[in-house]
Amino acid sequence: MNKKCVVLLSGGLDSTTTLAIAISEGFKPYAITFDYNQRHHIEIERAKMTAEKYGVHQLIFPLPLNLIGGSALTDNIDVPDNKIEEIGKGIPITYVPARNSIFLSVASAWAEANEINDIFIGVNTLDYSGYPDCRKEFIDAMERALTLGTKFHDRGKRIVIHTPLADMTKAEIIKRGSELGVDYSLTSSCYNPDEKGRACGKCDSCKLRLKGFAEAGLKDPVEYQ
Ligand code: ZN
Repeated sequence: MNKKCVVLLSGGLDSTTTLAIAISEGFKPYAITFDYNQRHHIEIERAKMTAEKYGVHQLIFPLPLNLIGGSALTDNIDVPDNKIEEIGKGIPITYVPARNSIFLSVASAWAEANEINDIFIGVNTLDYSGYPDCRKEFIDAMERALTLGTKFHDRGKRIVIHTPLADMTKAEIIKRGSELGVDYSLTSSCYNPDEKGRACGKCDSCKLRLKGFAEAGLKDPVEYQ
């Protein structure tokens, strides 16, 4: 029987690839998708399609982070059109305050309730937007904090946070995912899609995605405006 794991599945390129990697490593994933009233709500629909495609159990967890705001993804702030060279320098306005701390905490609760101690998250620090909650130091500290705060610690076990994309470029992630048969047409990366779900091509996330596909020598199958 395959070992169970929880995968944070946003519906984006990175988390979808992470799900495929977890399966390739022999895990039986349980996907958790956060509905945080994000501007790009389409990604939740894409996450549902991916979960269905892989036949994995999915929990859609409502977390109205718009009540907190402070980000272009959850507040009434425009998504910027930055130059590609500027991406990753400084913390951008699309950073959602403490998002990964909150997501990993909820994911660990679901994991603990189901006797699962492996959690997969698709953070990476190359070709990324410079979010502080993607850094290795943060993930390591979170792994320790979640272990100490759950019953696993008392049983001599620990929570393991897997970050298979940590040291990969976007192009490497896309190549790996393609080898594993990931259908990138089911993913959505854009922070500011139109009502038909078509990507803007201008936000940081679109630019990193397009650069990744170009470097991988592959065509991005999603529709752009
Ligand atoms: Zn975009």
